[in-house]
Amino acid sequence: MRVLFASSEVYPFAKSGGLADVSFGLPKALSQKCDVDIIMPLYGFIDKKRYHILSTGRVFTVAWGRKSYELEIFQATYEGIVCYFVYTPVLSCKKSLYGTASRGYVDNDLRFGLFCKGVLAWMQQGDTSYDTLHLNDWQTALCALWAKEEKRDLSVVYTIHNLAYQGVFEKESLKRLGLDPKRYDHMESMEFYGNISFMKAGIAYADAVTTVSPGYAKEILTPRFGAGLEGFLQRHQKKLTGILNGIDLSHFSPLSDTALVANYESESYEKKALNKEAFIREQGLPEGAKPLLIFIGRFTWQKGIDLLVSALSQIAPMDINIAVLGDGETQYHQKIAKLSRQHKNIDVVYGYDESRAHRMYAAADFLLMPSLFEPCGLNQLIGMHYGLIPIVHYVGGLKDSVHPVEEFDAKNAIGYGIGFEEPDAKAFVEAVKKALKLYRRKDAFETICRHNMRCDFSWSSGAQAYEALYRSLKKVDQ
Ligand code: ADP
Repeated sequence: MRVLFASSEVYPFAKSGGLADVSFGLPKALSQKCDVDIIMPLYGFIDKKRYHILSTGRVFTVAWGRKSYELEIFQATYEGIVCYFVYTPVLSCKKSLYGTASRGYVDNDLRFGLFCKGVLAWMQQGDTSYDTLHLNDWQTALCALWAKEEKRDLSVVYTIHNLAYQGVFEKESLKRLGLDPKRYDHMESMEFYGNISFMKAGIAYADAVTTVSPGYAKEILTPRFGAGLEGFLQRHQKKLTGILNGIDLSHFSPLSDTALVANYESESYEKKALNKEAFIREQGLPEGAKPLLIFIGRFTWQKGIDLLVSALSQIAPMDINIAVLGDGETQYHQKIAKLSRQHKNIDVVYGYDESRAHRMYAAADFLLMPSLFEPCGLNQLIGMHYGLIPIVHYVGGLKDSVHPVEEFDAKNAIGYGIGFEEPDAKAFVEAVKKALKLYRRKDAFETICRHNMRCDFSWSSGAQAYEALYRSLKKVDQ
């Protein structure tokens, strides 16, 4: 079976969040079972020299109305996986992937429409032997529509990583992208409250739709989490499943992570303390035997950042250290930076820093994840693998992957943490208090940390589930 995995971001070439981790980790795990290549945009900021990205010499032309665009396909091999890249100036010339935290680039419809055309051109004229196309989020969704138009013997899987980002554009987009409004500007297609939604094209035209945890697959059928698509998703419910994400253990490994001061595993958990000491010193946080709580993530309402801000002022007077790393909406950074000036045990860094994130996972005792909704969440999986205990709002993938410490059973290969049901600051602070109580019971605390490190958060069962799905859809050689 040959699979082409299309994504707008893939680690290590370009990353804005968990999608990039999944878009390399999953194909890598799948490559043990089937033949899988990756395809993504060739953004101008990707270091072509470093990754040996070279042109395949194949150029395709897309003509929409009076405009025509040339798409060139590049190629590299990374950790044994073949990655293709679509280059065209409109798509590639921007400084970042999608725009700023508050506003996407105005021509994102054209940019990612062209990317989708590049993916299909590669499958039709570059390498015609793929039988499955795996799409991820709205940036790739038009591939499903165009693949259907061409009625190829191709199975299309569409994965929703976050329903909050749908790729919504004005209706004029249809014409710009050579799409007939009569065919696509209606409720069962791309029409979305007077605009058009790329996400809807993925859901409507793919053979199977997946999302990144079983919990989120159920939640998005309800008005609270469906982002206006709950009714549409209900009508496509038969082809919707949830498969829990995993992490690439060679990228996230406390035993071999080169960013750490000291490497460790569950048997040598005590060495984790060296990372904490070094981090506390480096940040100038108060020293002493206090727990370190961290938050890593995008500064946006989805991540429960308002809850974090109001909880911080209540928990700061406790005997703890707090370190925050994130980027996104600067108003949130300003609020946390103000708290940091008032409390010397709060450290905040604005920016995206992979190495720093790894050092924080290794240093911390607890990870704060008060997300209002969370399709899967990778931070809690990474954090548990690095031997910490997550404190989470029980929602989506957090509920599926973090089990309450009250039910701790060392025989179960599941991760444990502390959760709260209602997304309010009071419940969040109570959960932190519970965590600190656990921290004082050193033996119990360490037993759970070591246990979390031994759990299997790899891609192995996720990849198996995707492979079974691909096989169930295969339209040729059944
Ligand atoms: P998202 O909703 O942002 O995709 P996930 O939990 O699925 O969230 O994945 C987040 C990934 O991005 C993790 O690998 C996490 O460590 C990383 N990450 C998030 N913010 C930052 C940051 N500011 N610096 C470094 N890594 C970050």
